[in-house]
Amino acid sequence: MEEYDVIIVGGGIVGTASMYAISRYSNFRKVLMIEKENDVALLNSNSKNNSQTLHSGEIETNYSIEKTAETKEHASLVVKYANRELNSEEKIKTLQKCQKMALAVGSEEIEKLEKRYDSKFKELFPYVKKLKRDELEKVEPNIIKGRNRDEKLLALFTEEGYMVNYNELANSFIKRALEKESYTLKLNEEVKKIGKPGGNFEVETNKKIYRSKLVLVAAGAYSLLFARRMGYAMKLGILSVGGKFFYSKKVLKGKVYRVEREGIPFAAVHGDPDITNDKITRFGPTVNIYPELEKGNWSSIPDYFRSMNIDMDTVKSMENILKDHEISKIVRENAVYSIPVIGKREFTKNEVNKIVPSLKPEDLKLARGIGGVRPQIVDTEKKNLALGGTAIKGDGIIFNVTPSPGATSCLKEAMDNALFLADYSDNEFDIGRFKKELDYRL
Ligand SMILES: Cc1cc2nc3c(=O)[nH]c(=O)nc-3n(C[C@H](O)[C@H](O)[C@H](O)COP(=O)(O)OP(=O)(O)OC[C@H]3O[C@@H](n4cnc5c(N)ncnc54)[C@H](O)[C@@H]3O)c2cc1C
Repeated sequence: MEEYDVIIVGGGIVGTASMYAISRYSNFRKVLMIEKENDVALLNSNSKNNSQTLHSGEIETNYSIEKTAETKEHASLVVKYANRELNSEEKIKTLQKCQKMALAVGSEEIEKLEKRYDSKFKELFPYVKKLKRDELEKVEPNIIKGRNRDEKLLALFTEEGYMVNYNELANSFIKRALEKESYTLKLNEEVKKIGKPGGNFEVETNKKIYRSKLVLVAAGAYSLLFARRMGYAMKLGILSVGGKFFYSKKVLKGKVYRVEREGIPFAAVHGDPDITNDKITRFGPTVNIYPELEKGNWSSIPDYFRSMNIDMDTVKSMENILKDHEISKIVRENAVYSIPVIGKREFTKNEVNKIVPSLKPEDLKLARGIGGVRPQIVDTEKKNLALGGTAIKGDGIIFNVTPSPGATSCLKEAMDNALFLADYSDNEFDIGRFKKELDYRL
């Protein structure tokens, strides 16, 4: 049986960032990553399937100011890593600067945006400008073209945004980690079972069984199922929020987000450039509740039900969440967008035209087979939706479930994972060097 110090299950952005952090800043000798697909970062961390945004807080109006401050610091780790580690060819494929804004349409949204632009926000982001309708025309003309003259607009705008190709970022992490001879990546191998029969873990795949002192499970929504099979997180469940995208010809220069309600974990439809194709604009993601752990993976439907207790607490929690006025409205509207023909028409009218008024349904195309799943954690004890990601800590094992902005905070998750694993062993994670090299201040 092959033996390792650490086995990482899942090669998305979180697993690969963690392997990189362990390889560079710790003295773990033998580390194995097991990924069931034929390459790393092909699911949620694939740039086609997410919005490619580096969420640094300037335009995410659903984040509290405290979360905004944290998010800013977590996001900056990605930029500092790219500046430090990537060569110019890698960097251009991975991370590009782009302008971005939070756009308020109408008095109610403007009032919210004005309120957010308070002293604390200005302290965090002194470079963010407040732009009125006439100024907006200069930076993003298609927001104004064809818009009703009486419609009031206000935006928080900055040129300091980034779009990220997260699967290129994952590739860069894994390439660096594998420079260490005793670090191994096994592709096309699916972990079926994790057990701890004695002092060490046994990780069973469709090909063989491996032994390890410690395990990190970064398997997207599947992390919760693995945790529960080992008796952890029995009071958690998942609300799988799928998201699709529509494409148009390029009509926006940068990212245009809308004003969101604080506390709603999924962003309203926004317009974005595509780092892999500068001729298009992407609109999305939609919000579709599916009973699955992976988008388009039929076998993940039964696994979805296995990943939670089917009892009154779960039913009550789901009922509470879906009864929330805003959430139920979003879910209802988005259900319509999946209906052929009518869906595209309604999506254009309700979502796209709030950003680019002149676009017509025939200008948009559904991006088939594209989009991922955001595994939002449900707390069946508190009967509500937990905001953000969760790290479930066990005895020498840690499970990461990371909905948005999980890709942005991958290096922060990696730091926390590496610290946890080091604490559980005689190994060390050089947190001082990590913080110094990446100028991390929290
Ligand atoms: C529509 C959408 C838009 C988003 N937009 C953004 C954004 O703009 N910015 C942002 O920061 N975040 C965004 N997110 C969130 C972000 O994509 C995720 O937080 C991030 O990709 C999660 O990374 P991960 O490594 O945890 O999971 P994944 O990328 O899902 O990786 C998990 C990996 O585990 C593997 N795996 C699972 N089970 C097994 C098994 N049994 N054996 C072996 N391997 C296994 C899978 O194959 C996969 O490769 C978005 C998400 C969605 C769905």
